Amino acid sequence: MKDTFKHQGLRQQLVATLKDKGIANPKVLKAVGTIPRHLFMDSGFLDHAYQDKAFPIAADQTISQPYTVAFQSELLEVQPGHKVLEIGTGSGYQTAMLCLLGAKVYSIERQHELYKKTKAFLPKLGYRAKQLIFGDGYIGLESEAPFDSIIVTAGAPFVPKPLLRQLKIGGRLVIPVGEEVQTMTLFIRKGPKEFEQHDYGEFRFVPLLEDKN
Ligand code: SAH
Repeated sequence: MKDTFKHQGLRQQLVATLKDKGIANPKVLKAVGTIPRHLFMDSGFLDHAYQDKAFPIAADQTISQPYTVAFQSELLEVQPGHKVLEIGTGSGYQTAMLCLLGAKVYSIERQHELYKKTKAFLPKLGYRAKQLIFGDGYIGLESEAPFDSIIVTAGAPFVPKPLLRQLKIGGRLVIPVGEEVQTMTLFIRKGPKEFEQHDYGEFRFVPLLEDKN
């Protein structure tokens, strides 16, 4: 588990790339420049870790493209102390980003292998989520609701109702919605039954699957 000047240099290039692509939030850019993404991937992919691309991780899943992580993180508008729910822990890269933004993070993963691996790995790098949960993100986390924001990092064929219900008034749900291709969608809860919806173009994610595995 090593971070070198070479890795740090590549990270700064990645930050520049994301700026060029329109990411503007300085805290998000700083986090991209800080998190050692190469350590979240299997060693064979070390050379690719700082390209702006998604990559395979364990259990047939992927670590999201840095641009996508940054884009979703911006939409969440995380403030220090916010209670944030993440669906799809995966490698833990997005979880680490949320920790650096100062959130109290609850993250759910449905694949036991990934859940176990990431739960052991994140604290080694000093990233302390409030809770990592092995479970089904379709039902959210009622016991800890309401949340300031919820981020879904897998493609959802529809918007799970529990996630909308578990938002605070003023809270934000960022979720890619669609089957093959997803539309990045932001819901802002305006009242008990009122939600404002904004669409942000097409992205591609691995599917949000029901149940645990
Ligand atoms: N945030 C991750 C992205 C991983 S890809 C990262 O930065 O690496 C999406 C993840 O969502 C996968 O790990 C997949 O197993 C998980 N997933 C899919 N359906 C889920 C569900 N219903 N509940 C929780 N996690 C789910």
